[in-house]
Formats: sequence, structure tokens, C-alpha cells
Amino acid sequence: MLAGLAFLAGCATTGSSVSKLPDLAWPDVAPGTGTARPSPKPQPIPPAKPSVDGVLPRSAWARGTPDADAMNPMLPVEYITVHHDGMTPFTATDYASSAARIELYRNGHRGRGWGDIGYHYVIDREGRIWEGRSLKWQGAHVRNRNEGNLGILVMGNFDEQAPSDRQLAALERHLRTCMAKYRVPVARVRTHREWDGAKTACPGKNLQSRMATMRSKSLRA
Ligand SMILES: [Zn+2]
Repeated sequence: MLAGLAFLAGCATTGSSVSKLPDLAWPDVAPGTGTARPSPKPQPIPPAKPSVDGVLPRSAWARGTPDADAMNPMLPVEYITVHHDGMTPFTATDYASSAARIELYRNGHRGRGWGDIGYHYVIDREGRIWEGRSLKWQGAHVRNRNEGNLGILVMGNFDEQAPSDRQLAALERHLRTCMAKYRVPVARVRTHREWDGAKTACPGKNLQSRMATMRSKSLRA
């Protein structure tokens, strides 16, 4: 099915003009080597129920453990950045397909030598919210600007498809939750392409336009 490192790169390398993520001074990964530690052998994953805040835990999908030595502790959240995956369009709504796709992101990111999936949250087509990298750790989703930057990935390719209504509702709900919890004003809720120097189309034109509306209307209310 889905294979190939270029394909697995996700929003970070959606085209030849896109810079690679990130140039971080991680202590035990030489810049540019992309050397990854091998993941432990996959173990069966029991079905998980959402936690009280409606977020499925990382254990619901992840088939490998994070490498804490390849991550920095998270700083206080100042920004929230929204992404798409930029891969082949994705329309499945079932739990297992979503879990498998998140595992693809993790595998691709680990293959670059990152400590875990780069995003803190993932929102699937059904509107489920999944924990990605624990917020104990700084993410890896905007080149050179990951400090205090909470990353939310919306599953799909929004240059080629539209976000589902349930995704948009879940995204808005989760943005509200995170904005309130970390006191992030709407002016500091960005999309990937809005960062200075970000050479990317992420999160795709169809989510970019919805984000503009959401920020100017519903999130401001
Ligand atoms: Zn992105």
C-alpha cells in the first residue's frame, strides 16, 4: 500500500521547493544524517477510548516508542500551527485506517532521525482527535520555529480534497481548547505556510481558506 520515503515525508516535503525540517540542535543526531534508531518490534495495540478531554492517547496508534534523547522539552506554548499531511488524498473514516496513517507519519519522521512523530495532535476524517508527540516534548513541524509551537495535523491533502465537516468541527473545537488552556490568542494561531521562510503550500488551499474564515469569525468570538 503506502510506501516510499518521499511519500512518507508528509507536509514537510510536499515539493522540490520545500525545505527539509528541521535544523534543530538535537544532541545525538548529526545534522543531515537522518540516522534513526530502530523501532522496537510492533506489538498488538488494544482499542483505546478517548481520554476525558476527548483526545485518543498516543498508545491508541503508535507501534514504537519515542526517543527522548532526540527531543527537547517543550517550552510554554505560545503558538499553534495547523498542517495537512500533503500525501495522497485520504477519505477513510474508520478507526483502524486513521491509526495506520498516523503510524505512517511516525515512521517517516523517525526515519529522519526525529524522536517521534513531529505533530502534537492529529485530526482524522471522522473528527477524532489523536495525541501525537506528547506535549512534554517540543514538536518538529515548522523549520527552526518549533519552540513553544504546538503542532496540529489535519489528515489529508487539502490541495486535492476538502477537509470534512467533522474534521473542521473537531479542529475548531480543539483549537478553542488549546487556545484557552495555553492562553494563545487567535493572532498566534497560524498555518504552516504563514511562518516566515516556510516554503510550503501546507495546509493546502482548501484548509488555508477555512482557517482564514475560522480565525476571522468563529475563533474570534
Ligand atoms: Zn505543514
